[in-house]
Amino acid sequence: MAKGKINVTADNIFPIIKKFLYSDHEIFLRELVSNAVDATNKLKALSRLGEAKGDLGDLTIEVAVDKEAKTISITDKGIGMTADEVKKYINQVAFSGAEEFVEKYKDKAEGSDIIGHFGLGFYSSFMVAERVEIDTKSFKDEEAAHWECDGSPEYSLKKSKKEERGTTITLHIAEDSTEFLEESRISELLNKYCKFLPVPIKFGTREETNTVGEGDDAKEEKTAVDNIINNPTPAWTKAPADLTEEDYKSFYRELYPMTFDEPLFNIHLNVDYPFELTGILYFPKIKPNMEIQKNKIQLYQNQVFVTDSVEGIVPEFLTMLHGVIDSPDIPLNVSRSYLQSDGNVKKIASHITKKVGDKLSDLFKNDRKDFESKWDDIKVIIEYGMLTEDKFYDKAEKFSLYKNTSDKYFTFEEFTEKIKEAQTDKDGNLIYLYAAHKEGQHAYIERAKEKGYDVLILDSPIISHLIQKLESKNTNIRFARVDSDSIDKLIKKDEEMPSKLTDKEQETLKGVVEGAVNKDKYNVQLESMSSDDSPFMITMPEFMRRMKEMSMSGGGGFYGELPETYNLVVNTNHELAGKILGESDTEKQKGLIKQATDLAMLSQNLLHGEDLTNFIKRSYELID
Ligand code: ADP
Repeated sequence: MAKGKINVTADNIFPIIKKFLYSDHEIFLRELVSNAVDATNKLKALSRLGEAKGDLGDLTIEVAVDKEAKTISITDKGIGMTADEVKKYINQVAFSGAEEFVEKYKDKAEGSDIIGHFGLGFYSSFMVAERVEIDTKSFKDEEAAHWECDGSPEYSLKKSKKEERGTTITLHIAEDSTEFLEESRISELLNKYCKFLPVPIKFGTREETNTVGEGDDAKEEKTAVDNIINNPTPAWTKAPADLTEEDYKSFYRELYPMTFDEPLFNIHLNVDYPFELTGILYFPKIKPNMEIQKNKIQLYQNQVFVTDSVEGIVPEFLTMLHGVIDSPDIPLNVSRSYLQSDGNVKKIASHITKKVGDKLSDLFKNDRKDFESKWDDIKVIIEYGMLTEDKFYDKAEKFSLYKNTSDKYFTFEEFTEKIKEAQTDKDGNLIYLYAAHKEGQHAYIERAKEKGYDVLILDSPIISHLIQKLESKNTNIRFARVDSDSIDKLIKKDEEMPSKLTDKEQETLKGVVEGAVNKDKYNVQLESMSSDDSPFMITMPEFMRRMKEMSMSGGGGFYGELPETYNLVVNTNHELAGKILGESDTEKQKGLIKQATDLAMLSQNLLHGEDLTNFIKRSYELID
């Protein structure tokens, strides 16, 4: 034997087919039914050209299981084959195809790559069958042919008794594949791969109840009718102009019978050039904090289901969308790595991104109100897209929205215009104040509003990343959460307010406060604010909190380890500061400080567990 060469004889083709496709045996059905559809479509084409004469009759394809005989058969009424064509298409093409395949991939160890390049077609039937028969009669007026093969290189080709035009493939199922003799299994596979094939496919019968007779004689009668398992004209194959809103919604239900939520809107894709692509994508409602479901987009090739793992074909942020994509340019037998390296597929991804951007832009321009009403449900997808795709960012920048505490929506540009006057500080920086929760940060929001500032509500899980991006794209702007520092420090308008306390008094105050609270947790700062500002305030520096949030939503684990520390800001101009200083009973003094600190924590909803219990106890004692 020659060195490094696999001995290619037909003897070892079938074991190879079996081995490499071990996990995917079920696709034999998809391959055979697709062949039947192709044969039917070819006949229709010939009929249009006048080459196939007469009425074509019913073209339904039938799949049947005979558990007793241990067979599965697929019958079409398509173009059929003459004996010569069987020799040419089935024997030569397939065998040489397999040889070529082994020759080409003998050095590659991994099976998964191979699947992507090898059209299995008819021979995939040997993954589940020990013997395969073909009975076929061509649309040309020639005798029918019978071909039979048990997986060895010997096949037989004889005359067949078949009288009807078309082809029947009969698989004699092997011992290790009897699962495919279960009707439920075949049903499941037909539903998965063939649900939208363009020719009606019958599998068994189902009962239909009809009313016969009239008036008093009327009675219900049950009849068995053909069970057609597919919808040959799914919505995406139709022209958008022929579809109503309701049609899109009902197609959504057809795709996801188990989903009860309605989609928010859809995007009908229809591309001829530079590649062919059709499809409908739906924006689902994405509830905040809900586990985001990916892989809901189904990929088809000429209405044959290929996969629902579309990563690499659609850009990552759009894998959260639902719907279908159909392109003849996508290979049927695909592996992930193959798809990701395929040039066509890459073009598809950037095209889809563009289309989605355009559609959103149209929706925004044409019905701003409706767009706003949907914004909270779609923002996660859009914001994620802005973070990960620069081209999408450039488009989305113009329609992505920011909501303020009065539930009004603005584009970034509009909001900038609105706050320009009031929120530019003395260093010329434009400060975007925001809060994550209207309730949680209520006190801080109120304080900012009193000062005449406008506060945004930014509550997406990835918002800190987006803020970072916005800051890097625009100069002289800064985002600051309302509780990240005292408002006067966040927007520095003029020099600091003078303190009522002397330097000496301030030093003493700092010392007693530090002595009363947990030093690891609180970083005590004195600040001279207005006397009607809170006496004690908890803040968390913007930088630290943002880093923490970013690491929590994916982006490096380092900051996730940061301990919980807060700034405890004491307002030296509040009368409580004076009261604490003046208290000579050190126990009472400590009590005042603890109580004020806890209240500051409580106003941020940060007081929990033992601290909360102690606080409540202390408060009751004060009432006494
Ligand atoms: P592919 O479909 O990729 O060409 P196959 O191995 O599945 O490869 O089939 C080889 C050829 O056999 C087909 O191109 C077609 O000409 C012929 N063929 C297969 N199934 C049918 C059928 N049901 N009716 C008519 N011709 C068929």
